[in-house]
Amino acid sequence: MRITRPVWRQFSPKFIDNAAEWVRSGGHAVIVYRPSKLRLVLGVDKKGELTEQGLWAVLALEQHRAKKEKEGPLKGLFTILAAPHARYATLDWCERDSGFAKPTRVLKLDCLECGACCHESNVILYDSDLERFREAGRTDLLTNKHLIRKKDGKLRLRFLPSGRCPQLESDNKCNVYAARPFNCSVFPAGSEACLAARESTLNLRDDVDARPLA
Ligand code: SF4
Ligand code: SF4
Repeated sequence: MRITRPVWRQFSPKFIDNAAEWVRSGGHAVIVYRPSKLRLVLGVDKKGELTEQGLWAVLALEQHRAKKEKEGPLKGLFTILAAPHARYATLDWCERDSGFAKPTRVLKLDCLECGACCHESNVILYDSDLERFREAGRTDLLTNKHLIRKKDGKLRLRFLPSGRCPQLESDNKCNVYAARPFNCSVFPAGSEACLAARESTLNLRDDVDARPLA
């Protein structure tokens, strides 16, 4: 599948208008006030909500709630101050994307060739997931302590010592696909969380040296 994703670009505060234009054209921006103060600028969808790509970038940084600017050059766009733990990742995304000239990039992904997000993920299970497992006859996913675990009061999938999900077959198909957890079903290909999984698991970085589109 072909995915269009935002390209990250770094701006100094005096070029805030350029940052706004970049984001309105589909990119993501980081305004660097000083090394310890980075402001992420994210776009809106047709309904005026934070884009899905923006939302998943915020989630990948383990941050919460971007706010919609009400005035100034960024009016109507979403911003969030990068938490200390998120600064390195944010600047690394800008570095990764520095070779792309336009605010968006098209990349080709094949989940069956990849399977990266089925490694070392934090998949929380909801009651609706457990109900689907039950209906699918997968009671092992309800009771087998090698497959599920409880942490911070929440049930989660347990992964193998190699990092692989036990449900991932050798052909990268999920053997519980029709009843897979909600969090697996909403994970978007091409999001920052996807790109991070591909980089950490497969050492595939989506920079200008990435495999060209076929
Ligand atoms: S990491 Fe991305 S491309 Fe790979 S399987 Fe997951 S969603 Fe698909
Ligand atoms: S349950 Fe399926 S989709 Fe979810 S992590 Fe495991 S193999 Fe991947």
